[in-house]
Amino acid sequence: MKDFFHRDLQLFIDHRFDWERYFRLRGSSTEVAEEVETYRTILRTAGEVCGDIEAAARDHWHEEVRLDGSAVVVPPHIVTGYEKLRAAGLLCLMVDPAYGGYGLPALVNCVFMEMLSRADPSLMTIVGLQAGVALDVQKYGSEELKHRYLPRFVSGELQGCMDLTEPQAGSDLGGILTRLSEENGRYFIDGSKIFITNGGADMHLVLARDGATFDQSRGTTHGLSLALCPVTLPDGTRNRVRVSRVERKMGIHGSPTCVIEFDHAEAFLLGQAGGGFRAMLDLMNNARLGVSAQAIGIAEAAYRAARQYAAERVQFGTPIIEQPLVKSMLTLMAINIQAARALLYRTCGLIDMTEAIRRELAAGPSAGNGNRAALQTELEHNVQLIRFFTPLCKYYATEISNHVTRQGIQIHGGIGYMAETPAGHYHSDSIITTIYEGTSEIQASFALKEMSKGALFAALETTRAELETLRDRRPELVAQVSEGLRWIEESAPALLGDPQYALLNAKRVCEMVIDVVVGGELLCLADVPEGRPELAASYIRRHMLAVEMNARRISSGDASRIKRYDRILGL
Ligand SMILES: Cc1cc2nc3c(=O)[nH]c(=O)nc-3n(C[C@H](O)[C@H](O)[C@H](O)COP(=O)(O)OP(=O)(O)OC[C@H]3O[C@@H](n4cnc5c(N)ncnc54)[C@H](O)[C@@H]3O)c2cc1C
Repeated sequence: MKDFFHRDLQLFIDHRFDWERYFRLRGSSTEVAEEVETYRTILRTAGEVCGDIEAAARDHWHEEVRLDGSAVVVPPHIVTGYEKLRAAGLLCLMVDPAYGGYGLPALVNCVFMEMLSRADPSLMTIVGLQAGVALDVQKYGSEELKHRYLPRFVSGELQGCMDLTEPQAGSDLGGILTRLSEENGRYFIDGSKIFITNGGADMHLVLARDGATFDQSRGTTHGLSLALCPVTLPDGTRNRVRVSRVERKMGIHGSPTCVIEFDHAEAFLLGQAGGGFRAMLDLMNNARLGVSAQAIGIAEAAYRAARQYAAERVQFGTPIIEQPLVKSMLTLMAINIQAARALLYRTCGLIDMTEAIRRELAAGPSAGNGNRAALQTELEHNVQLIRFFTPLCKYYATEISNHVTRQGIQIHGGIGYMAETPAGHYHSDSIITTIYEGTSEIQASFALKEMSKGALFAALETTRAELETLRDRRPELVAQVSEGLRWIEESAPALLGDPQYALLNAKRVCEMVIDVVVGGELLCLADVPEGRPELAASYIRRHMLAVEMNARRISSGDASRIKRYDRILGL
């Protein structure tokens, strides 16, 4: 038994989400306990399938994707793994039942993504993108497109990819030059994209510059359109899109990374012409949470391998796990993984509840679940938190994953550096998570932007209110997190007046907020049955010291630090 849907994951389903309220707001007549038990059953089954996929993924980790003519050929274990998921009905879990899906909550889907990534992070990219593209079609496509394509995404007949990056347009998507032109009500794409994951897929979701405003909008994210470009057109003819190259990489070898050429390929517009960037942000935000789950899944695999090795490897007459320094590395790995989960699953829960509130409000006054004005306020508050927490999740989970997987190699000693041991593979797989779907630096600057729009205050107030409910039970730890809150509030003014100094400190201030929000969340988790109070206490003791140190560092400087860096770099 591989224990994929383990206790630390179950906690979030069992205790950290108000399912009663969720189903009530959605106007669902189903029995709540039964419905949640169905989710558990799905996740247990998914866990078993993941356990089944894992061994081949480890054994064939080195196998690369290749290009055969213009056909992308993935290694056989990826094909087999995909077929296992397809046979178990585990594709596109969130698609609406109206289009053949299950309409599962983001929280449940995210747990599945984490487990799948623990088994095989390459396969996870393929399945994750398929689900993400399907959801964007569901949100922005016409009814005709939805009925034509969504059931085929769910059945696994169609896979998807997301085509944004171009050589001159990486972090800065304002640089996009691929053109979408309208001709007599039909749309066509010309240009090339690079680094496209699963670029051999049947469906390309493309961000391209609207031909009508091409010159005026160049260099900005205005005037970008989102279009769906199928490789096979509805009349059965082959579209003018092809893969011209497949990259070789340092990790996730089973995940295709492709260069794509569009030579007047026909496409279907999603949403408004020129209004594609906002729609793409939707997809990217989902994808960012997906990559967070991917990063945590890889870290979990690395931790388990290291823990097992440390218990078996004997030096100086005892298993190395008995050495305080090794024990400390392993403990830190375990704490960090659960901390990253706490932020991720909290954010997913917020997304689900917000969606339920949106539904309730859309259903009109007759639905009658509470005060509509209060619900509207809650909705706006949640949206603000989700926008803020999403980049924080991506930043934190992926950086943690890099660190955990690196420590995994250290615990393995020399054997961890050998090509055939998985310890190094986990690290090689993990590194990409801090780069794609927006690098860590971009996440930190996005989060900073949200903070300046009021999200910092909203997040701190929410954590403060939660802490108050715990004060009686854990006064000492609550006091420490409250002190962390105070340090943030004290140092924030030093950032407000100077955008350059704020940017210089973006990662630092993100980490401080994460430390405090996660500290509060772990305290809530500590109190549930089978919670982990020692883990929360360890996290809080360690991280509130870091908050203080970071606050002092921010308060003691100004933008002149940048000038000093210029001199060091000889700029
Ligand atoms: C394996 C792989 C799979 C990928 N899959 C996809 C995919 O499916 N679809 C897709 O469209 N793209 C994909 N990408 C592209 C990926 O999203 C980009 O590589 C990523 O966004 C970074 O862009 P870049 O490589 O051009 O780096 P750059 O933007 O050139 O960044 C280089 C460095 O500068 C930093 N930097 C840049 N701007 C700023 C700033 N304003 N502030 C602070 N630091 C900054 C970055 O953080 C980074 O450290 C993939 C890439 C890889 C490697």
